[in-house]
Amino acid sequence: MSYIDELIGAVGKEKVLTDPAELFVYGTDWSPRTPTEFNPPDVVVLPRTTRDVQRTIKIAFDHDIPVTAGGGLTGMLGGAVPIYGGIYMDTTTMNSVVEVDSKNQTIRVQAGATLQEVNDAVHPYDLWLPHQPESKWVSTVGSAIACDNDSTFGVRYGKILNCLLSAEMVTGTGEVLELGHRKAHFTSSGYKLMHLLAGSEGTLGVVTEATLKLEPIPETRRVDMLVFPRLGAAVDYLSRLLKAGLCIEAAHINCKHRLKFYTHSYKQKFGKDPTIPAWAEALLAISFAGDKKVVDFQREQAIELSKEFEAQLVEERELVESWWASKYTLEFEPFKQKWPDAQTKKKFGAADPGVPVGRLEEFYHKFIQTAEKHKLEILGMNAYLEHPNSIGFSLSCAVFVDYRSVEEVKRFRDYHDELSKMAIAFEGTMSTFMSDTYQKAPYLELEHGASLRYMKEIKKLFDPKGIMNPGKKFLRRGDSP
Ligand SMILES: Cc1cc2nc3c(=O)[nH]c(=O)nc-3n(C[C@H](O)[C@H](O)[C@H](O)COP(=O)(O)OP(=O)(O)OC[C@H]3O[C@@H](n4cnc5c(N)ncnc54)[C@H](O)[C@@H]3O)c2cc1C
Repeated sequence: MSYIDELIGAVGKEKVLTDPAELFVYGTDWSPRTPTEFNPPDVVVLPRTTRDVQRTIKIAFDHDIPVTAGGGLTGMLGGAVPIYGGIYMDTTTMNSVVEVDSKNQTIRVQAGATLQEVNDAVHPYDLWLPHQPESKWVSTVGSAIACDNDSTFGVRYGKILNCLLSAEMVTGTGEVLELGHRKAHFTSSGYKLMHLLAGSEGTLGVVTEATLKLEPIPETRRVDMLVFPRLGAAVDYLSRLLKAGLCIEAAHINCKHRLKFYTHSYKQKFGKDPTIPAWAEALLAISFAGDKKVVDFQREQAIELSKEFEAQLVEERELVESWWASKYTLEFEPFKQKWPDAQTKKKFGAADPGVPVGRLEEFYHKFIQTAEKHKLEILGMNAYLEHPNSIGFSLSCAVFVDYRSVEEVKRFRDYHDELSKMAIAFEGTMSTFMSDTYQKAPYLELEHGASLRYMKEIKKLFDPKGIMNPGKKFLRRGDSP
């Protein structure tokens, strides 16, 4: 009996896809990959329960078959692409709410629920999950954990580990483990194995359920934008606001290329330029949330303090609201337009390095030089503040990539490699929200040195046969770097 027959016997025929037309859609994600780079799996499992996941992995273990778990497939570096074929586990069929404990402000949910589905479930309790990437409509709880992605509200609430209390997983041997402490908000007991899951990319096992901490929904929110003469001035300004005791809810710094993108969009829509001064080198989008009186007070203080930094408030509310809509609803005006023309023909691709706060501008110039050197059209750089009530950002260094051109995709990968190595040389990291995938696997030792050996041992403990998302994070023997 083939392993696929065993799968059908174990989980049921209706949960197993084998038709090549159905498998095809699982062969790529949102990363710039050429049309020839489709890696469809050999079979797809649509699990409903942890038991389905466990049975599937046990069969994979017995037959040495790769298992790649995926959510919305919106990863931008191929993390969920089953590059060695085998079984693809489409976890989006596991999206039930197990329990909402409104007093404890927690939700227990299956890992295939999207972040938006979580918020829909807890809204009636006047609670929300502030971990919200732009892609929350399709990005799942499991993948938010597995790629340790960014959140729009990181500067107030942090990233997924700040709201993750515990996670259930199935290891590469088919064992079910609960990592964390389920409903207690803190623990100092044992080793924090749950933290290993953040950014693990499904290489240790499949996350099947999670308990997440929720927050009360704020009464009101006010979003503003300010322009600065330098990127560094925007960083210093945010530092000043935090020193003053303001509670910033979201803070995103955009370079001038990104700024041009928004002003162009405004002009297209309203037939005139917004009143952005020519000296503007950085655009900061910032929000405060809470009771209206408190929000108004904080906003006033923030505007007052901006004078110390020669900043200017963006007066055009349409521009601010269009940006917010893009963050919050993905209805992004510029994407409906023809500028840059490339958008109709190209995908955007990004590197996600992290560098020390004081070296942001220096790295920005390196980003521009590197993109130009590789002849890639520049979309721009964003710095997202992701550390609660503190300065510390992840970077998105984005370019447009003609994914139909093998040669341009190669140039994008070279650009990506170069920025990754540069970030490490800057005493930073090559990855802040997309994890490593196959793209950064060759540089893991450069970033982690001797501790890479410990990581490999941990991987072996959870996945002794190396069947869980092979080729991601670690090169397999024989992989070309
Ligand atoms: C328009 C757009 C906007 C975006 N905005 C943001 C943003 O604001 N912030 C940000 O950080 N990223 C953003 N991204 C990138 C991407 O959406 C996120 O990284 C997101 O977390 C991916 O979610 P997904 O469910 O699509 O994951 P997938 O691509 O399906 O998977 C991502 C990784 O998680 C693993 N995985 C998935 N589920 C499980 C599981 N249950 N157990 C173990 N491993 C699992 C996969 O194997 C893979 O390695 C954006 C992408 C797009 C296309």
